[in-house]
Amino acid sequence: MPPAEHHVEIAHAFTEARAASTVDMAARVRDLLTAVGEDPAREGLIKTPERVAKSLRFLTKGYEEDPVEVLNEAIFTDAYDEMVIVKDIDFFSLCEHHMLPFFGRCHIAYIPNGKIVGLSKLARMVEIYSRRLQVQERLVTQIAHLIDDLLEPKGVGVIMDATHLCMVMRGVEKQNSTTVTSCMLADFRDSETTRAEFLRLAGY
Ligand SMILES: [Zn+2]
Repeated sequence: MPPAEHHVEIAHAFTEARAASTVDMAARVRDLLTAVGEDPAREGLIKTPERVAKSLRFLTKGYEEDPVEVLNEAIFTDAYDEMVIVKDIDFFSLCEHHMLPFFGRCHIAYIPNGKIVGLSKLARMVEIYSRRLQVQERLVTQIAHLIDDLLEPKGVGVIMDATHLCMVMRGVEKQNSTTVTSCMLADFRDSETTRAEFLRLAGY
């Protein structure tokens, strides 16, 4: 994917449509309950459609935020030129194929080239991208390319290590499988030493 495309944000355009659709979403969840063989009118399920709609809205709230804006708020000029690593950032996402959770940890590293970013903003960015329907491969790519675009660092590396409920609970039912994806750009791609240092510091 060319870097420009994946953070041309769909975010704001959908905000209004999403707000208008909460009631609609609940109605559809009611249909879903019927479709799985349940009685949506029984006591325990009466408020379930609204709860599911609300919860789904929360789990996909990343569509309402723009990671470009968030990062741009905290970019500073600085001469620091060693590797910066933020590791073990927890994330929870929904796979776009089954809308089931996948979750795990994300490690981000970059080597500044005159600009640094507030560390908490990196975690915020992970949060925004992961609170959308995703595939783990795209998630690491989006995170790495956005850092690359906005900070123009000497290199950037992102690793995500996750458990996918669509693999654990259904399908192949491999309960202990984890999926690791990574995106390495510039120095992290070209230099084995840099990549090795990142992997070591991230605990691999
Ligand atoms: Zn899936």
